Amino acid sequence: MTTTPLLPDIAALRAQTRLWRQAGESIALVPTMGALHAGHISLVELAKTRAKRVVATIFVNPTQFAPTEDFAKYPRTLEADIAKLAAAGADAAFTPSPDEIYPEGFCTSITLRGPATAGLEDRFRPTHFQGVATVVAKLLLQALPDVAIFGEKDFQQLAVIRQMTADLNIPVEILGAPTMREADGLAMSSRNIYLNEEERAVAPMLHRCMSRAAQRIHDGEAMEAALAPARSKLMAAGFEIDYLEVRDAATLATVQGRYRKGLRMLIAARLGRTRLIDNIEV
Ligand code: AMP
Repeated sequence: MTTTPLLPDIAALRAQTRLWRQAGESIALVPTMGALHAGHISLVELAKTRAKRVVATIFVNPTQFAPTEDFAKYPRTLEADIAKLAAAGADAAFTPSPDEIYPEGFCTSITLRGPATAGLEDRFRPTHFQGVATVVAKLLLQALPDVAIFGEKDFQQLAVIRQMTADLNIPVEILGAPTMREADGLAMSSRNIYLNEEERAVAPMLHRCMSRAAQRIHDGEAMEAALAPARSKLMAAGFEIDYLEVRDAATLATVQGRYRKGLRMLIAARLGRTRLIDNIEV
């Protein structure tokens, strides 16, 4: 059986990627927090079409969780993750400890504006993107990949990482990958396991209501008028909506009026104790 070698620390990651570079082999990086599902694996598969070597990273990054969030109970399934990476043909998995990434005395982080302060996730998770950007910068600088793959599922995160790598001149191509969904439309997420049976049955409404609203906007209805019924339906079904908005897909700037090209609809909503996010093209 093929296995995927573990790179448990930065020294091992550097040594392996250096060998590949010396052999003239291109490298793709797929950062994850583990608890891998088919969405993550689709990133690995895309990575394999873009580079000779693929490194997945599995690191539940403490600095992107607020103290009130689910860092401690975030699912950790390393053995199953490694088996899935092996089956998908990943060449290595970087699995550092928190101390390796944040040694005693660590005190540097990246300050963000632009897409990171668009008033979407940042409004509800004010320290989140600073944690994401800092760890992604560290991963990119240690692996020095040719390309790094991120899911459109976390649309604002993808925009933040594109902006950060451009601003810091990190020599890597950032590639977005489409969102993988369950058969009923629910976006795959490691957090879906938090949903109880009843909530799981209701959760696909998120995508259904967004799709209907997007269609109405596409058909010419004013944006706010198209979003209003989606909001009320979701609220009636028990969702607490953090935001449901249409934004410019490239800048995440607010938009008004009617359909034009380059729009994205984004939602975050809580169902019971689970917070779900999703987004679609309009
Ligand atoms: P996470 O482990 O949740 O931090 O996600 C790791 C990467 O997988 C991120 O780039 C996510 O955007 C991406 N991802 C998460 N869920 C999906 C999905 N359903 N489809 C495609 N990519 C995803």
